[in-house]
Amino acid sequence: MAKAQHRRETRWGRRSQLRPITSLRRVRNCGTPLDPDGGVTLALTTGEDGSRSAGYSGLASCGSVWSCPQCAAKIATRRADELSKVMRAVDGAGGSAFLLTLTMRHSRGDRLGLSKDERARLRRLEENRSLYEAANANHWDFDEREAEAEAIEENTLRQARGCWDVLSDAWARVTSGGAWQADQELFGGLLGWARVVEVTDGDNGWHVHVHALLCFGAQVSAELVAGSVGARMFARWRGALERKGFDASDDHGWDLRRVQLGDGDLADYFTKIAHEVTGSHRKEGQRAGGRTPMQLLADAVDTYEESAMARWWEWEQSSEGRRQLTWSTGRRDLRRLAMLGEEATDEDIAAEDLDADSRLALSGDTWDCVQRNNRACELLSVAENDGLDAARTWLKDRGLLWSDAPTPPLRR
Ligand SMILES: [Zn+2]
Repeated sequence: MAKAQHRRETRWGRRSQLRPITSLRRVRNCGTPLDPDGGVTLALTTGEDGSRSAGYSGLASCGSVWSCPQCAAKIATRRADELSKVMRAVDGAGGSAFLLTLTMRHSRGDRLGLSKDERARLRRLEENRSLYEAANANHWDFDEREAEAEAIEENTLRQARGCWDVLSDAWARVTSGGAWQADQELFGGLLGWARVVEVTDGDNGWHVHVHALLCFGAQVSAELVAGSVGARMFARWRGALERKGFDASDDHGWDLRRVQLGDGDLADYFTKIAHEVTGSHRKEGQRAGGRTPMQLLADAVDTYEESAMARWWEWEQSSEGRRQLTWSTGRRDLRRLAMLGEEATDEDIAAEDLDADSRLALSGDTWDCVQRNNRACELLSVAENDGLDAARTWLKDRGLLWSDAPTPPLRR
């Protein structure tokens, strides 16, 4: 219990420190009451072993998997759970799983990537260009000056693309084409893949790379997979990078190893993210590639140093709206294999309430007072350690108002 409490405190602590420095309005509003005049509910769940966990509902959530510690932890926990089920399903099907890591060379001056708005604008300009080209080919009227201005703008945006933009193109290249079609039939057939993007900030700039879980239907050794499918995936990866002016090292550019549930698989990876984000590990063990984004955030809020802040803002702007985890689809759908159902969005997962068995409704004024005095996590600890009666006493002692809220039916 003490450990859970500590984690929650660091998480809430970091949350309130993040608010003044974030450049994203949605993240700034995360954790504020959904109804500005209404209150917030303190919800308590008691597990079968008698352990309690408490949380607040009625608060806005931003669903930012990249920039909000609280939402990132919640989402990572869900992803870890789903990927564990995938590993069990692969085991059940008699298959084997591998983790392929693909990296790229980078230097200090490389941009991380276009912002969400820039990416949307670039897509729009590309669509317009094909319309202009069609108009030109058919001798239809179009505004040539506007077309020319847009061509210049498109070119400028293209030049500004960074590592992350190139990575997305390269991964698309890795998972397409005739060789890939044939490779998917090997080793009992590819059951599917799941891919995450990881970014760290090192002495050499942004280190952007891919971890992909590859699951095959038969038992096969890592040497065999690395020597065939893996080597060909890396060759396409490097080829795609080179076409965009980037590069990958033959010796250190990739790695493929066999993984088991809880041992180096993607579920394990998300469990580590959830733990890192909750604070207990943030100062320990820098990753080989440099600081994780959450370590970068910690440095920014600890020091308010200009370079750390600028780095954090670049991170927020470039990462916004990008997907952390993607899955293969169609007949190689790992989610269907594991019977996971439709994938919930990051926003949906972050907005889900705790399935509580008892609740207290705190008035708007009560919540305001608790928040202003930074007592939100203290109240959670009281409820978790000693139950809702203790929480009532805690509120009464401070002259704060509450009512016993009806427990709504469990939401699924
Ligand atoms: Zn959030």
